[in-house]
Amino acid sequence: METVLIAAGHGGPDPGAVANGLREKDLTLATALACRDRLENNYTGHHIVMTRETDVRISLPAQRNLAAKVDADLLVEIHYNHNGPTATGLETFIWHGEVFEATKRNQRKIHNNAMDFVEQYGIPDRGMKTGNYFLPREAPCSVVLVEGGFISNPREAAILGRPEFQQGLGFAIADGIAEALRLPAKKPPAADEPWPPKVPIPKIIRIVGVMVDGKRRNDLVGFYADNGRTLLPMLDVGNVAGVKVEGKGDHIAITTGKAK
Ligand SMILES: [Zn+2]
Repeated sequence: METVLIAAGHGGPDPGAVANGLREKDLTLATALACRDRLENNYTGHHIVMTRETDVRISLPAQRNLAAKVDADLLVEIHYNHNGPTATGLETFIWHGEVFEATKRNQRKIHNNAMDFVEQYGIPDRGMKTGNYFLPREAPCSVVLVEGGFISNPREAAILGRPEFQQGLGFAIADGIAEALRLPAKKPPAADEPWPPKVPIPKIIRIVGVMVDGKRRNDLVGFYADNGRTLLPMLDVGNVAGVKVEGKGDHIAITTGKAK
C-alpha cells in the first residue's frame, strides 16, 4: 500500500499568485481534487491523504508534519506559476540535494504525463528541474512539485482558468503518480476513451482590455476566441444571466446593471 499525500498550494488568506482574474489557490485546489478523484476511481493499492480539500491555509511546517504522521511514500505539491506576462510553460521540481533514484523516477513519470496533457494546448516544456523549496527539502519522503503554467501570462491564463484544463491536468498528474508507484488499474480504460482527454477549449485569437460599467478594469483581461465568443478567465461571460457583454473591437464592455 502506497501512501500518497497531495498538497494543493496556498489557500485561505494566502491566495498565492493573483493575476488575470485568477487566484493560484483556486486552481491548485481544483487540480488536487481532480487528482484525488482519478486515483480513487481508476487505481488501487494506495492510501490518499490531502493537505486540504477546502479553501484553508495549512502552513508548510504543518504539511511536512502531516507527511511524517501518515508516513507518506510520495508527496505531490501542486502550484501554478507567476513571472511576468510572457513567461510560459510547465515545470516540475525535486530537491536540489541528494535524492533517491525513486524521486527522480517519480518526477519523470509525473512530468511526462503532465506534459502529454498540456502540450495539446501549446503549453511548452520548461523542464524537469531541481530547487531548494521547503517541502522537497524538509518532508521525510519523496517530493515532486508541479508548476502547472503561468497565470501571469494572459494567453496562458485563458487556458489555465478553464475548469476542464484544471481537471485534465489533475488527471494527468494522477496517471503519472500511478505509473511511478506502479499502482494497479481498477479497470482498463474503455477502448473508445481518448487519452489525453480532448476537452473543447476555444483558441484565443486576441487579448483585449475590459470595461465594467464604463470603467476600465486593469485586473481583468478579455479574449476573443476563434469560436466567436468573448471570454474572461474563469468566466465564460456569454453564459452569465443578467450581465450584458459586448465585444467592442479594442475592448470588451460588461454591463452589470448594478451601476446606476
Ligand atoms: Zn505557488
